[in-house]
Amino acid sequence: MYITPHVLVGASVGLATGNPIFGFIGGVASHYVLDAIPHADSGTLHYGQLTGKSLDIRDYILSTIDVAAAVLSIIWLSYKVPFVDSASIWGALGGAAPDSLVLLKLFLPKAAEQSILKAYYYYTDKIEYTVKPQYWWLGVVTQVITIGAALWYLLAR
Ligand SMILES: [Zn+2]
Repeated sequence: MYITPHVLVGASVGLATGNPIFGFIGGVASHYVLDAIPHADSGTLHYGQLTGKSLDIRDYILSTIDVAAAVLSIIWLSYKVPFVDSASIWGALGGAAPDSLVLLKLFLPKAAEQSILKAYYYYTDKIEYTVKPQYWWLGVVTQVITIGAALWYLLAR
């Protein structure tokens, strides 16, 4: 999924735990759960052939909007509800953290060659449910619902 749903769900999990350490661990766990839900991202735009080199201007624009939306939504929420405590922030960071390893694979493929990382990518690729290009709309709907559910939970606090 994109970073925005990961960050908002991570913040929700962190808030639910009320503890920075459990919040971070729960945020990381939520990442894999969300990636198992059918979703559209750069993997859909470059289905089956996503590498750092295959990324184009459309990917960079979408990623920039995505990261900006994630950061701005956390800032906006901090004014809306007194929810930004260390547990929810660590949850949000945990929710985003696993994608740093995806960036490693895309941009430093040599560094991603280590056997422990190869095993990690083997299993996370199995979990990851990126929709095929013709189902991109389904992959957008699932992320809109995910974002909506997380906002609903956070704003209800
Ligand atoms: Zn991911």
